[in-house]
Amino acid sequence: MQQRNLTILGSTGSIGCSTLDVVARHPERFSVYALSAHRRAAQLVEQCRRFRPRFAVIVDSGLRAGVADALHGSGTTVLTGAPELDRIAGAPEADTVMAAIVGAAGLASSMAAARAGKRILLANKEALVMAGPIFIEAVKENRATLLPIDSEHNAIFQCLPLESAGGLLPAGVRRILLTGSGGPFRTTPLEALAQVTPEQACAHPNWVMGKKISVDSATMMNKALEVIEAHWLFGVPAEAIEVLIHPQSVIHSMVEYEDGSVLAQLGNPDMRTPIANALAFPERVEAGVARLDLAALAKLTFEAPDFQRFPVLKLAYRALAEGGTAPATLNAANEYAVAAFLAGSLSFERVASLIQEIACATPTSAISTLDDVLAADRAARNLALSLHQRAMQRVA
Ligand code: NAD
Ligand code: MG
Repeated sequence: MQQRNLTILGSTGSIGCSTLDVVARHPERFSVYALSAHRRAAQLVEQCRRFRPRFAVIVDSGLRAGVADALHGSGTTVLTGAPELDRIAGAPEADTVMAAIVGAAGLASSMAAARAGKRILLANKEALVMAGPIFIEAVKENRATLLPIDSEHNAIFQCLPLESAGGLLPAGVRRILLTGSGGPFRTTPLEALAQVTPEQACAHPNWVMGKKISVDSATMMNKALEVIEAHWLFGVPAEAIEVLIHPQSVIHSMVEYEDGSVLAQLGNPDMRTPIANALAFPERVEAGVARLDLAALAKLTFEAPDFQRFPVLKLAYRALAEGGTAPATLNAANEYAVAAFLAGSLSFERVASLIQEIACATPTSAISTLDDVLAADRAARNLALSLHQRAMQRVA
């Protein structure tokens, strides 16, 4: 058994809290080196008092003094500002980094962990979507280890032979079946979608998650991002990744082999399973997750995805075919649209159409550095802002 010392980026989020829950069950295996939060200062202080990290980063500098006062004399040094995230991600004292910041804000620190050759537990799928080839190259060059936290990708990882970890699909795999619940609006009448509220969109039938990924699940942009994520993680061509709707979220994904075998990973929808799997890999540890009771479930069902209801799904395949900046553009357009929807200035229906407009209007160029990716991210957000403002002026 190897003792692991962890940096948790985004420790106050849904994934961050589930990670600390698993860590707390195994104090002999896991210790916490650093924690980070954007603005939830009180929660960060509470986590520091319990887990006694060497460093805590509160990104919003206006909150630093309060956190430092609260932790005075505790042994935790309080830092602030986004560049400190890169520092705790790359620090030599931590061997494992849980990358659980949401969205493009997590790209730099996830990259810093890759460049420092860490064992990276990747929840921050947006980083891989935006910068896929650059991220994977940094992982390989620096001999980092990438362990997927996203439940689907962790399931696929568990269904593939061990030696396949590292971006190369093993021979004999025919396709990946990426399952998705279909979200809260799988059966909502199409004409009712215009009126849905952020609260309704965030009420996922099976998973409790942060707001952004909850809205992504409602539009199925989450599955679109996951198609791109699977491509980079496992080296699977887009045409060998199929999305399958499975409303119960018990089968977390499957791998089909040439001989007709289909391997699946099952479990209750609780992120502590993939988190514990990656934390202890290749060993197994208890995660606090309720046992799967298949007799009580009785029935697992499947259906093909409805591309008319969820038009963003197609955009993932198009972005992969185009390559270069296309996935970063798609991701940025989505982040803008989701934030505007959550803020109440964009209707649910407009989320998908705004993303589509931006993806269609933006020419794709090659990426060779992180700056290329960040420039595409900025351009898409600027275009989103001007299209959105123009539409609001028309209404006013
Ligand atoms: P969340 O909103 O609950 O938490 C996000 C965390 O990131 C918080 O700790 C927050 O302080 C931090 N953060 C937010 N903005 C930041 C910024 N600008 N700079 C620095 N830190 C910032 O999100 P979540 O649901 O835990 O999701 C985290 C990541 O994990 C996402 O990429 C999501 O797609 C992925 N993921 C989540 C789940 C889930 O069940 N929640 C499942 C699969 C994948
Ligand atoms: Mg997922």
